[in-house]
Amino acid sequence: MMDGKGILKGMGVTLMRFLGTYTADMSWWFKHNFSSRYYNKAGIENRMSKDARGIFTVQYPEEKLPVPEEFRFIPFLLYEEGENGEKKERCTSCGICAKVCPPQCIWIVRTSDPETGRPVPEPKEFYIDVDICMNCGLCAEYCPFDAIKMDHDYELSVYDRHARNIFDHEKLLKSVSYYASIRPANYAREEAARAEAEAAKAARKKPA
Ligand code: SF4
Ligand code: SF4
Repeated sequence: MMDGKGILKGMGVTLMRFLGTYTADMSWWFKHNFSSRYYNKAGIENRMSKDARGIFTVQYPEEKLPVPEEFRFIPFLLYEEGENGEKKERCTSCGICAKVCPPQCIWIVRTSDPETGRPVPEPKEFYIDVDICMNCGLCAEYCPFDAIKMDHDYELSVYDRHARNIFDHEKLLKSVSYYASIRPANYAREEAARAEAEAAKAARKKPA
């Protein structure tokens, strides 16, 4: 028989959550030197945890939830930072990423030596149509030079997709230190593998 007890119980839970928002806000305020639990990293972490109390709407876009390391959105090209601030690109324009890309949204133009016409292992032009990219990560997976990686930036809204969402070479370039900051575990693993390979190569070259 329906006696309305379930409805009252549900409304009670909603009311407690609602009131909990204020009590949790005030308790945070007193415990954290009169600072709010909104618009700061510690507050976001608290509101995402199982200890969170009350209603905790994310105040997007002022607040953004952190994404996990393996989150992937649009690819970017890596460059090493030279001592004099020059960008040493890792990409050799081999074209493997463009070949494996399922929706074929990568275009690469190879650099050629102006005198000999022979190919130079760096891209002259590099484009990714980021509205067609399906964020699969295959380009990053297959690149033999760790030259293309998946970014965490997911904010791509623009008014003119043709002018803004076909990323060119310049727009795609990001530093290795940026990559290390968004994917520290991946970066550490790759650097360790690189150091190991170089040590093995050096050992092979040593005279017996
Ligand atoms: S990003 Fe990697 S796979 Fe793509 S062209 Fe450059 S080196 Fe080759
Ligand atoms: S993430 Fe996937 S769809 Fe996007 S450019 Fe790379 S291979 Fe292509």
